[in-house]
Amino acid sequence: MTSRKYNFGAGPATMPTEVLLEVQEELLDWNGMGVSVMEISHRSPEFTKIAEEAESDFRDLLSIPENYAVLFTHGGASLQNAMIPLNLSKQGIVQYVDSGYWASRSIKEASKFCEVGIAASSKDKDYSYFPSQESWQIDKTANYIHITPNETIGGVAMRSFNDTTIPLVADFSSSILSEKLDVSKFGLIYGGAQKNIGPSGLGFVILNKDLIGHAMDGTPSMLDYQVISEGKSMFNTPPTFPWYVAGKVFKWLKSLGGVNEISKINVRKANKLYEFIDNSDFYSNNIQKDSRSIMNIPFLLRNEDLNESFLQNSKEAGLLALKGHRSVGGMRASIYNALPEEAIDTLIEFMSSFEKKAG
Ligand SMILES: *Cc1c(COP(=O)(O)O)cnc(C)c1O
Repeated sequence: MTSRKYNFGAGPATMPTEVLLEVQEELLDWNGMGVSVMEISHRSPEFTKIAEEAESDFRDLLSIPENYAVLFTHGGASLQNAMIPLNLSKQGIVQYVDSGYWASRSIKEASKFCEVGIAASSKDKDYSYFPSQESWQIDKTANYIHITPNETIGGVAMRSFNDTTIPLVADFSSSILSEKLDVSKFGLIYGGAQKNIGPSGLGFVILNKDLIGHAMDGTPSMLDYQVISEGKSMFNTPPTFPWYVAGKVFKWLKSLGGVNEISKINVRKANKLYEFIDNSDFYSNNIQKDSRSIMNIPFLLRNEDLNESFLQNSKEAGLLALKGHRSVGGMRASIYNALPEEAIDTLIEFMSSFEKKAG
């Protein structure tokens, strides 16, 4: 236990220690079966129970309405960048909000399958804010509008949502379960598991059932929401081990009091760090205040020559993976659900003492 360090990595990211200990305890002999959970059939009654419980706990945590399907998928978030246009575009027009790195990747992929319009973009200001919903130029003939409500690399977020006239599709990879969400405002919500849910290799899709059954001709079976949904996410062998671990993360989150409770902690964690950065002349965060992410906090050192030393020293202090993405440079603290509040306090103490020593 004492050897565990604070992991600020963006993903695959830190996991709740309680969950890892449970997995360790059960690894060789799951449920008294004398084998590991990763060694049993995905069609066995025992695994079916894991799958069903994971879905129902996920539904409870987000109050997912009955008319929404929940799918557990392969291929993380990136495969959805293809599946969404294949299933929802009807080969017509679709729209995207360009809010940064991940939005741009989604746009590029969708452009292979249909005509993509940009409803709004913050590229003009180097993605330092999230384009407000009022500014979106909605094309009523578009089949959906896609957003990336938490830009994991840029640290930009959209956190409240109004109704839209066309289905709202959102990549929630890095902020799912971080705070309350009214699922009914969305046509489809998706992401990779490896930030707030579990090990990589698993993805999730929550979609209005009306959007199922419209895949374009030639869509591979594995990428057709109807096929995946009818097969209860087991058209082929699913990533059973990540799914099992995700189920434990859902139970862990429920035991803490669910999304309501974790969101209070998350807001407190983020506010502490932003406040510290904003009050410093040594560190800075350039994101417009009303667009700041509560999950990923990029920051720069005023003197970039100190970057290497900051990373080296923070690592020695047990604070891992603070290096910013190569596309933005500087540092980034990813502070997902499983990262305890003490990690933020320790980081702030470290940053403060590093500043004193360097200054
Ligand atoms: C991590 C991330 C992705 C990519 O996820 P993969 O599972 O690796 O495909 C996409 N979008 C966002 C917002 C992310 O944070």
